[in-house]
Amino acid sequence: MTQLAPAKWWTSAENNAVRCELCPRHCAIPEGGQGYCAVRRNRGGELFSVAYGRPVSLAIDPIEKKPLARFLPGSRTFSFGTFGCNLGCVFCQNDSLSRGAYADDDLQTWVPPEQIVELALQHHCPSISYTYNEPTVFAEYVCDIARLAHAAGLKNVLVSNGYIADAAADELYPLLNAANIDMKGYSEAFYGQMCQASLEPVLRSLEKLHAIGVHLEVTTLVIPGKNDNLAELDAWLDWVDAHLGRETPLHFSAYHPAYRCRIPRTPPATLYAIRDLGASRGFPNLFLGNI
Ligand code: SF4
Repeated sequence: MTQLAPAKWWTSAENNAVRCELCPRHCAIPEGGQGYCAVRRNRGGELFSVAYGRPVSLAIDPIEKKPLARFLPGSRTFSFGTFGCNLGCVFCQNDSLSRGAYADDDLQTWVPPEQIVELALQHHCPSISYTYNEPTVFAEYVCDIARLAHAAGLKNVLVSNGYIADAAADELYPLLNAANIDMKGYSEAFYGQMCQASLEPVLRSLEKLHAIGVHLEVTTLVIPGKNDNLAELDAWLDWVDAHLGRETPLHFSAYHPAYRCRIPRTPPATLYAIRDLGASRGFPNLFLGNI
């Protein structure tokens, strides 16, 4: 039996079309069609979440792999993702999931929220991480699992691009204990050219998470010649200082060529220079990854 979960955060449009309001892309989806993320489908003038109940990757990871350096250190986290993403990063490091899609046979799978929580408990993980692809696109599933997880004494961790509309964030974010959000490049030009998206909603998400007291860390995948300009990163540190506080853990990771991007991998010296810049400005929690 194929079970499709009704989606939240959408409005009806003319001719049985719908408009998805989950993320700033606000896709207009005709009847029979799907959104940009490929996991939200219009059936008969109503929007459904195909990803709900259909994890495609489950694992137990060290929490440091998310990466989270200052949340439950040394613990293991029950981690899963689905197919789908609402950004179009040409450098995606995980495109088998982000650009993957459910085949009709996959729709026979059904893993209810209770089962995810049970698995985390069985494996003695103190937290569940919504990760691997972009969890915003399966936000209904995250919310339902997260409520059950809290009732069972587990923590909720979101690893996200932060590209979410306000109404959905207002429901999802208070259910979190920790988040690692990507800040992919500190310019609208970078987000437009490299991610088919915009920076401003991501900054708003960061402020929102900080304001409600979710433990927050931020990751930037550093791509040579694209987002590694030290003056631009200095401006990013200004923003963090003013809006999140300089104690916020900041991760800078080396990129490697992937998906549609053939730029050579990030030299370690680039990451060291960024760490030196942050340290010279008094940022105490700087972490380098993939070197
Ligand atoms: S969540 Fe998916 S369908 Fe909804 S607006 Fe974003 S990209 Fe479009």
